[in-house]
Amino acid sequence: MSLLPVSEALEKLLSVAASEVTTGSETVPLQQALGRILASPVQAAHDVPPWDNSAMDGYAFNAEDATLAESQGLAISQRITAGMAPQPLEPGTCARIFTGAPMPPGADTVEMQENVEEVDGLARFTQPVRPGSNVRPQGQDISTGITLFFPGQVLRPQDLGVIASVGIATLEVRRPLQVAVLSTGDELVEPGQPLESGQIYNSNRFTLIAALQRLGQQVIDAGILPDDPEQTRVRLHELSQQADVILTSGGVSVGEADCLGQVLRDSGRVELWKLAIKPGKPFTLGRFGDTPVLGLPGNPAASLVTFLLLVKPYLLRRLGCTATAPLAVELSAGFDWHKPGGRDEYLRARLENGCVVPAGNQSSGVLSSASQASGLVLIPAGLTVNKGQLLSFLPFEGLLS
Ligand code: AMP
Ligand code: MG
Repeated sequence: MSLLPVSEALEKLLSVAASEVTTGSETVPLQQALGRILASPVQAAHDVPPWDNSAMDGYAFNAEDATLAESQGLAISQRITAGMAPQPLEPGTCARIFTGAPMPPGADTVEMQENVEEVDGLARFTQPVRPGSNVRPQGQDISTGITLFFPGQVLRPQDLGVIASVGIATLEVRRPLQVAVLSTGDELVEPGQPLESGQIYNSNRFTLIAALQRLGQQVIDAGILPDDPEQTRVRLHELSQQADVILTSGGVSVGEADCLGQVLRDSGRVELWKLAIKPGKPFTLGRFGDTPVLGLPGNPAASLVTFLLLVKPYLLRRLGCTATAPLAVELSAGFDWHKPGGRDEYLRARLENGCVVPAGNQSSGVLSSASQASGLVLIPAGLTVNKGQLLSFLPFEGLLS
């Protein structure tokens, strides 16, 4: 059976997700909206700034009085600080004004205080005036009526600031998905328990739950499932009643004990299996009842990589997000790679002198190299790499946020 290219698998996952975008939304205060996904557009009901105001501490005047200001000076007829409502400017005078204070009607220019001598109540300008300078016009930042944000956008700190600047205090955001996390394998025990012969600690549960929490999703921690077809069927059935998505690790390879894949094939459906990705070949998209099952490989590095590259975009798309591609930057390779592979290979990588280099052991069972890494670097199937060649690097910060 030939392997499915990663791009095709991703396209399929995204189209499946797009056909089941969640509709649930809730209204939250702005302070609780960080990282949430907008469910309705945000429109500006105000101009920002709401009125012309001074960009400097200085003197507001009308540019027609520039000659007078530069020769004798202008009388100072009012003093305007931020937060005050100004009076119309008397012709032939100026106003002492401070940063952020509204321009008085009749003034169109501000001279900065460094260029002004104040003598006997007159302000004399020592530099030639530039008409219109140092004024921040009404609506310079945002004009009334425009759509600032669209449904599906993930809210960042600066976005919350922009929304606050137009006076909006609450937002309608998508409800998180309920994601059940199930670790499969007779060999697994939880940390804190003694390790008997043949056993290993369940690490995927912690990686995957933490990654889901980073994405703001709701986790149903479904613990460990033994390699038993009947118990697998029962658990998948239970979870399919509660969860929007079932996320499993292990049991999707081709071995006899890999009963998750088996049960999906016999009692559910398999829509994708065996991808041209390293690590992560056994990744599976299936369905039990109506509930999607995303089956990750058991090997911890493969589980992490397929979560980041496939599950995360899938979840974002289900929440209505359109921008699902992770941040990628082109960086020079600080290593040679002479043997072309049959699959797209994502190396756990770190930066060294501005170049990208593999971080430690790249076996799919080795997770500590992911901790030593700052991201993944892609070596596309069939290609070799020479030092200095540009490669696509995906920082974990982008992959996880
Ligand atoms: P599997 O995909 O079930 O064949 O598992 C592949 C490898 O990953 C085996 O060496 C398993 O012991 C290991 N593995 C499976 N699940 C986990 C887990 N939750 N935590 C750590 N290692 C695991
Ligand atoms: Mg297993």
